[in-house]
Amino acid sequence: MNEQVNFRVGTGYDIHRLETDRPLILGGVEIPFEKGLVGHSDADALSHAVCDALLGAAALGDIGEHFPDTDPNYLGASSLKFLEKVLTLLTENNYKIGNIDVTVCAERPKLRNLKKTIQEKLAETLKIDTTQINIKGKTNEGLDSVGRGEAIAVWAIALIYQIK
Ligand code: MG
Repeated sequence: MNEQVNFRVGTGYDIHRLETDRPLILGGVEIPFEKGLVGHSDADALSHAVCDALLGAAALGDIGEHFPDTDPNYLGASSLKFLEKVLTLLTENNYKIGNIDVTVCAERPKLRNLKKTIQEKLAETLKIDTTQINIKGKTNEGLDSVGRGEAIAVWAIALIYQIK
């Protein structure tokens, strides 16, 4: 048998403002905090960055093309729905997920005790094993908007593959 594996990588980045009177959702998990992220959907910057990393790896564009923030259907939408649709697109194109690595940059709250819950939620949504996804938390050392606690920024990288 002559199998050829086609590996591809993609990166994703997202940032949303933090304001009071909004729930804080990261990776589909509601996190107890006095502020939440502002956006058209649930503003889940972590899920958005992962969507873009996966779409980028598959050369399928970006989250704004697939789920425009002008579409009323996505007002307040759970971003896990975006991840489910991205998974469908990958599957339609015969791609499987190798692994995903995520860096969440937030001055507060501390994500140390929530990383495992987020990892499990994303693994369940993307139908992968928890060992295929990693969540890292960092602060911005008091610098810039993230460091002042005005925003949360997220970077993601994804490896996907096709067996030919
Ligand atoms: Mg976003």
